Amino acid sequence: MEQLMREAIAEAKADFAEVRWDETAWSRVAFQRDQLMALEQSREVGGIVRALVGGAWGIALLTDPAELPAQLAEATRLARLAAKHIKDPTELAEVPVEEAHHAAELKEDFRQVPLARKRALAEGYNKQILGFAPEIVSTTVRYADTFRRSWYANSEGTHVYQEIPDVTLVLAAVARRNGDIQQAFEPIGEAGGYELALGHEVKAEETAKRAVDLLNAKPMKGGTYTVILDQELAGVFIHEAFGHICEADFLYRNPHMREVMQIGKRFGADILNVVDDGFIPGSRGNMPFDDEGVRRQKVYLIREGILTGLMHSRATAKKMGMEPTGNARAVSWEHEPIVRMRNTYIEPGDASFEEMLSGVDHGIYAKAAFGGQTMFEQFTFSAAYAYEIERGEVGPMVRDVVLTGNVFHILKNIDMVGSDFRLAGGAGGCGKEGQSPLPVTDGAPHVRVHEVTIGGS
Ligand SMILES: [Zn+2]
Repeated sequence: MEQLMREAIAEAKADFAEVRWDETAWSRVAFQRDQLMALEQSREVGGIVRALVGGAWGIALLTDPAELPAQLAEATRLARLAAKHIKDPTELAEVPVEEAHHAAELKEDFRQVPLARKRALAEGYNKQILGFAPEIVSTTVRYADTFRRSWYANSEGTHVYQEIPDVTLVLAAVARRNGDIQQAFEPIGEAGGYELALGHEVKAEETAKRAVDLLNAKPMKGGTYTVILDQELAGVFIHEAFGHICEADFLYRNPHMREVMQIGKRFGADILNVVDDGFIPGSRGNMPFDDEGVRRQKVYLIREGILTGLMHSRATAKKMGMEPTGNARAVSWEHEPIVRMRNTYIEPGDASFEEMLSGVDHGIYAKAAFGGQTMFEQFTFSAAYAYEIERGEVGPMVRDVVLTGNVFHILKNIDMVGSDFRLAGGAGGCGKEGQSPLPVTDGAPHVRVHEVTIGGS
């Protein structure tokens, strides 16, 4: 493959040309209630060629490596046509030429595990959840793995080969009593081998128990509270509410937000540090090199409360006069790379959980996220479950805790950052501009925020 790419690229008649060829092997098993909903494995191959002529991109796809020379010529022809009408020409920031081979290390290679064994594993978790209590009326257990092999080459001489493994497991339970329905789920996801899906029996039981416990929880009254976010919810918050507005392609297109997101501006207290990192061993968001062949950087979005960085592709870096960061990613071979997050997290501080609790007279300990919505700086997140905090102690479980507000207000009001840092790959992924789900990892320690608006019931 590499030789073929070298030869084709050498013949390119564009200002810049690149080829990416992906081979992805995947399998998945899904159970719902007592039904097997999916049991499949397959392999997908394909490539994308981009040619840049006079500031305009031409793009062509291929499903057979033999098509490479012809599709490279086609992309160049399309770029030449587009260049005649270009208003905002694309230029690429300079990056070092790379020659790299990044192989994945898996303890137990899931490609060698028979589908029947994966089915038995998922079925086991499913039976466990389904049989936990009579209130459990439905379940979802989903196992999925993906092994991506990616070859990248460009006309500047960069050649990168990398292997990106991904294993996810979703454990979910639905409980019902007298018409009241509650759900709980546990998403597990990492970059590694089959071993990552094993041994989650305790989590399966906890998930079922939580769904039943939520039937007994009372809804939280709406209002303004001091809220402690657990690692998972704080991680989802920093990705969804803040990470996405630090993506330079978004900012480039939104003059208002570009005005707001000025480098050097203070967004939080000195204790707040927010990072997007391209590689943390075992993390789902890992991209040793991005899909433009750029070596990953560790980007401090916020350092000691101050906005210090943004996430870039080569094109956005050039437009905004900043350095490329290795954030250009594509969800599959059919897509061109756009600016995406990788492993995004709030760095640990030094507060203990007990210190955070003390001094909270009446607050909320909100855990995990049931998803949310963001619109520029406004957000709405539902905690998966929560507890009331009463006079410095964790009290009874409460439900219907919906956090709403303005991301900058929350960042400003973070007054304690814990030392108990944790990363979570989740089981879904990030979605942007029709490219979904892209594996990412979020992380944070416990974080305390005062004056949070809770839209309860
Ligand atoms: Zn996202």
